[in-house]
Amino acid sequence: MKAVPLTAQELKYRTEAVYIGDKNADTISTYSYDFGDIKINVQSTANDSLVVKSTEDFYVCSKCGYTIVADETGKLIQYIDYKSKVEAIKDGPKHASPFGKGFCINTNLNKYSLHHEFKTDVAKIEFETDTWDYATMLSVMYALLNAFADVLSIEKLDVKACLTYKYY
Ligand SMILES: [Zn+2]
Repeated sequence: MKAVPLTAQELKYRTEAVYIGDKNADTISTYSYDFGDIKINVQSTANDSLVVKSTEDFYVCSKCGYTIVADETGKLIQYIDYKSKVEAIKDGPKHASPFGKGFCINTNLNKYSLHHEFKTDVAKIEFETDTWDYATMLSVMYALLNAFADVLSIEKLDVKACLTYKYY
């Protein structure tokens, strides 16, 4: 039997997590903590919903699935009407058909972003303080993510977080 390598999966494209919520999620528990002037509320839910979205767009052939990533500008400029971030491009060079010999008959590609919705457990952590400073928010988020991974002995890539501002 061959040993399974324990290295993390290669991350080829960056992704971002988006919390979409699920109204059928079950609240597990709520906690409140006081740290001096700052109150922190934590609510954990099970069976909640997150979306993981690629930060890069993809141009895809609707006939065969041939794909060019939006940062492969050298390939994209071969399409006559390509401009950054356009929804579709046409009349590019022929691409090989993945279904055997020859070329695919389609030379137009449409832009897609890839995302995947999944069910997971979520902890909402609310700081009852000013949260206007994005740099501080990011810093706190990464400190928490690293601490979670460390304390729970899980891969850093297996915990995701997203930020939201609060308005008073
Ligand atoms: Zn094709």
